[in-house]
Amino acid sequence: MKPFCRICENEIFEQRLYFPKSPRNIERLFNRDFLAQDTPVNLKVFQCKKCGHVQLLNQLQDDYYEEYLMTHSHVKKMLNFQKNQAKQFVDFFSLGGKRVFEAGCGDGQFSLLLKELGCQVFSNEPSAVARKACREKGLETIDGYVSAGSLSDLKGTFDAVVARQVLEHVPLPNDFMQGVSELLKPAGVCLIEVPSLEQSIEQNRFFDFFPDHLSYFSSGALTHLFSRNCFEIVRLNRVMDGEYNEIWGRLEKNPGLMSLQEAADRISLSFRTFLDQETKLGRRVAIWGAGAKGVLTLSMVDVHSVAYLIDLDPVKEGRFTPVSHLQVSNPRRLLSEPVDTIIITAMAYKDEIIRDLKDEYSFKGKIAFLSGGEIISLNE
Ligand SMILES: [Zn+2]
Repeated sequence: MKPFCRICENEIFEQRLYFPKSPRNIERLFNRDFLAQDTPVNLKVFQCKKCGHVQLLNQLQDDYYEEYLMTHSHVKKMLNFQKNQAKQFVDFFSLGGKRVFEAGCGDGQFSLLLKELGCQVFSNEPSAVARKACREKGLETIDGYVSAGSLSDLKGTFDAVVARQVLEHVPLPNDFMQGVSELLKPAGVCLIEVPSLEQSIEQNRFFDFFPDHLSYFSSGALTHLFSRNCFEIVRLNRVMDGEYNEIWGRLEKNPGLMSLQEAADRISLSFRTFLDQETKLGRRVAIWGAGAKGVLTLSMVDVHSVAYLIDLDPVKEGRFTPVSHLQVSNPRRLLSEPVDTIIITAMAYKDEIIRDLKDEYSFKGKIAFLSGGEIISLNE
């Protein structure tokens, strides 16, 4: 298979770095007797020509992580950083008592911190050695990887997913993020932490590149990855003296658009209720605004008890609106044929229209306007 960008799937790259004779596995130190087994690799780092993502093109062997155990949690500075990080994340999203999944939890140190903060923590970890360490901490850690379609019995059951120092090892970051989004409830949140590419570049750190880091994420690449996978970015920071890029996201599978549909569904009822109430009080109602927003709103509501429609634009005068078929009049009609109530649909000019109504048309009646799915009265 032709190699492709791990984020945008483009197939054209530029080679940026070449380190011959790199260690195949930086985790592995040899006994003298095993030195003959040391087989270095040529490390080549590429950059996607389309999105700029920096990555290796090769894959790791399937069993790479089975015996993997890399942890810095015995270092005091790291432990303090993690404590602070866990607390900020839990506090910000009120995750106390909530279900949190940690992907690739290593020796379970961070999961333990989340647990101490009151979260119900579950995790996965492909390394058997690391899983053993988790079990000894009393954590519920399962085997395997997070990917689209994996862990299907846990689908949609978590309030948050955490993945620290994981994504740079993941062959298919989009697939991983799909797996994360599947684990989450609607509007669930995530914390992803990766080594910062910016830090490597700023400090000429050639030693940050090695075979098991398949991707080198800049904040731009993380942003791209999140938006591709329907995560809204809540926070994006360089942390731990700039060593890591940390990103917080919220799953955004169009909840915003869902609420727009609800608003559209509500407007017809709100409009009818408003007009019925005005009619009952013997009031005549005009609408101000035959622009796009007004025309669209009027197409969704019952306008039979509207007295008339006005708009300042002389080009529109005398013409009829589509669907609602109201004829557009000049606002001067307010003087010859007064109404008691005006609904403004031209929201961008609301303040100006209110001023004109009072100053130029001496209007003393009720003014209402469109807001989301409601008709709101300005005065009574
Ligand atoms: Zn790309």
